[in-house]
Amino acid sequence: MRVAVMYAPGDVRVEERPDPKILAPTDAILRLPASCICGSDLWPYRGADPIDEPTPMGHEYAGMVEEVGSAVTTIKPGQFVIGTFFASDNTCEICEAGYQTSCIHREPGAPGGAQAERLRVPLADGTLVATPDVPDDDLLPSFLAASDVLGTGWFGAVAAEAGPGKTVAIVGDGAVGLLAVLAAKQLGAERIIAMSRHEPRQQLAREYGATDIVEERGDDGVAKIKDLTNGLGVHSVVEAVGTQEAMTQAIGSTRPGGHVGYVGVSHGVELSGDGLFFSHLHLHGGPAPVRRFLPQLVDLIWNRQIDPSKVFDLELPLEQAAAGYQAMDQRRAIKVLLRP
Ligand SMILES: [Zn+2]
Repeated sequence: MRVAVMYAPGDVRVEERPDPKILAPTDAILRLPASCICGSDLWPYRGADPIDEPTPMGHEYAGMVEEVGSAVTTIKPGQFVIGTFFASDNTCEICEAGYQTSCIHREPGAPGGAQAERLRVPLADGTLVATPDVPDDDLLPSFLAASDVLGTGWFGAVAAEAGPGKTVAIVGDGAVGLLAVLAAKQLGAERIIAMSRHEPRQQLAREYGATDIVEERGDDGVAKIKDLTNGLGVHSVVEAVGTQEAMTQAIGSTRPGGHVGYVGVSHGVELSGDGLFFSHLHLHGGPAPVRRFLPQLVDLIWNRQIDPSKVFDLELPLEQAAAGYQAMDQRRAIKVLLRP
């Protein structure tokens, strides 16, 4: 099968690798009618994460079940399923509490790379959620979005306690940030402030429910948020970047007693104990337990109540994955869909 492999920063190649096989009796093999590139794939692409060996890429997936191991009971060949970047048993105490990304049996959800034609998924019964029937092709991008960026944005909004009567600010205008806007809207937030300086992304943020746009960053961004909120700061902030600047901006924009949901993969962020002590904030985040939200998200997409697929603004053949990485790295594309 064909799979996108990262050899070094800036060096992605599509090459032939053996088709995946059932290795454990709890595995499933999926055929992937499409795949996609995640903003977090840009960390190694830009050299911010080490690449020790040529690494198959991609951790977002939705596809047809072709084969299951002997111990798989609920997932069946012929089903269309969605999974997430960590496999989980969905039965341990941590999973039952809704933190499947810290499952005591967790392992990578797409060990062979999901920017590929086929994928082995471990712990299939716990990890995968089936749609009611095989979906129309036009829903495929939305289900792929649910696999990570929608689920992650949703968790960010939930962790930030976005809801009725709340003013929510979103730091980050990548796919996760934009879908956190959609999530905040769905959760009933009264006012949603998207922080973005890119016109096409501002427009999509507005489509998804943003009521205000703030272009300023850093201290200026914080000052602008305070201007918009009677000097108090917002109730809720979703931090969807992972840098020091974004986290500082998120914390500075939140009012005392407010909530920060941080879902940008943290890179070198350091927080001051004093600053936290006197901020009176709730901080909650981490690798989003997308599995917790998947049944609800699958339902919303199946019934066409939300359309997260708008974050895909470039579609390429899998063979041209390298061009897709380039487009996202240069911010010419928000998110790239790849078709085999
Ligand atoms: Zn578990």
